[in-house]
Amino acid sequence: MGFLKKLFGGGEPKKYVDKQGIYFYVVCDNCGTRVRVRADKQHDLQNTGSGYEWHKTIVDSRCFRRIHTVVQLDANHQMTSHEITGGRFITEEEYVAAEEADKQAKLEAESDSEEAA
Ligand SMILES: [Zn+2]
Repeated sequence: MGFLKKLFGGGEPKKYVDKQGIYFYVVCDNCGTRVRVRADKQHDLQNTGSGYEWHKTIVDSRCFRRIHTVVQLDANHQMTSHEITGGRFITEEEYVAAEEADKQAKLEAESDSEEAA
């Protein structure tokens, strides 16, 4: 119980910063599903000497088609180039905006029968 108390007990909510992870945002070519993929800097990236390389097969949760990608990163973990088949990369901003738009559309569909005040 002490652990839960620590988790949910008052105090300022601290923003969790994931220093170990890098996030990639991919859209499936086949069904349009957006996927957020986390790569662990220590375990998922291969050191190439001047930077890093990330090999990944991404599977979305709708059509389960495989999206293959190879991403090149510089020493600061910034994407410098990528190859992808079966999908395409989008920016975090695009991902968040699209998620937001989906949420809005859902809300509007739900309140369709109601009169807005
Ligand atoms: Zn798909």
